[in-house]
Amino acid sequence: MAEQRIPFVKVALDEEDIASVERVLRSGWLTTASQVKGLEADLAAYTGAKYVNAVNSATAAMHLALVAWDIGPGDEVITTPYTFTATANVVLHTGATPVLVDVREADANIDPELVERAITPRTRVILPVHIAGEPCDMDALMEIGRRRGVKVLEDAAHAIGSLYRGRPVGALSDAAAFSFYANKTITTGEGGALTTDDERLSDRVRRLTLHGMSRDAWNRYDAGGSWRYDIQEFGFKDNLTDIAAALGRSQLTKLELFIEQRTRVAQRYFENLRDEEHLILPSFNEENRHPWHLFMIRVRNETSPAPRDDVIRELAERGIGTSVHFIPLHYFTAYQKLGRWEKGDFPVAERFFDGEISLPMYPAMTNAEVDDVCEALREILHPA
Ligand SMILES: *Cc1c(COP(=O)(O)O)cnc(C)c1O
Repeated sequence: MAEQRIPFVKVALDEEDIASVERVLRSGWLTTASQVKGLEADLAAYTGAKYVNAVNSATAAMHLALVAWDIGPGDEVITTPYTFTATANVVLHTGATPVLVDVREADANIDPELVERAITPRTRVILPVHIAGEPCDMDALMEIGRRRGVKVLEDAAHAIGSLYRGRPVGALSDAAAFSFYANKTITTGEGGALTTDDERLSDRVRRLTLHGMSRDAWNRYDAGGSWRYDIQEFGFKDNLTDIAAALGRSQLTKLELFIEQRTRVAQRYFENLRDEEHLILPSFNEENRHPWHLFMIRVRNETSPAPRDDVIRELAERGIGTSVHFIPLHYFTAYQKLGRWEKGDFPVAERFFDGEISLPMYPAMTNAEVDDVCEALREILHPA
């Protein structure tokens, strides 16, 4: 295998990020305290959400929201197979049933019409995923949710910085879960956050995040804090560290810059690949702001001289890293063992997956590197 010249992602870390972590390390206080509170306040200001719970992953954020809403056995949560496994795992962990519906041809986001049809008296939550950061049709989903008495929880793992019709993702629905995993748009290494306007949800999530401890237990090591605490229910251990939160706060100050750079990269891809007959380029709605977490192209396998898998292999041979988003959930062993879905059940998601390649995308990617990737694609798609 060739040496990787252009990776799929490069983490955007600078000296400020490193200094902010170093300050926490030198402070002697490593776990959840002022930096986590600060990150929550910063994210509330950025998204416009009233309450933010910073936790150790988007997975935890979604799981905690479902538990806090008392979702459990007998309940149904509607999502799609076109997502990372976390989205459905968390539903299964509550004992509830994930109900999968197909996605839209254009952008692989959940299809509101199919959501409407999938609602039953057991439906408690709709769980849309903003694929690549392109917002789902939230007005339609919220209208269905309100009319049918069902909550909407957004998997916003790709969508920090996304605007839906001018409004930030994070303040559009009942709650949204962001990811700060290492390869996401901003990172804390591992980390995530739940945003909501519902104070009761946020309070219960806070308690569930740390073993179900009473609120004052969070302050039990502060000067004047007491050693007494109560366990009010059986919670989890999903809190974020101050080390991670300091990194997140530093990263958040650069998010707008990151999105500008990602937009530049996306535009360069569009300019280069606009006329490429063997590819389908990402579609996006001009009313929204796409943060370009991913640049997802599709190979037209039926007509292309090189089908998707060959394109990926040949890009790798030229030192270019890629990824595939997503292997549909119902293809995985653990999902098949549930005996609920078969190949063929979600034709749009399956077709989208068959052609999909996520191209290199990171703020530091130069125009010359984008051109290099596009030149390689042209060579592969038009063999001499
Ligand atoms: C990354 C990702 C997650 C999980 O995020 P974590 O912070 O790692 O838990 C969930 N959903 C989608 C769509 C993702 O891409």
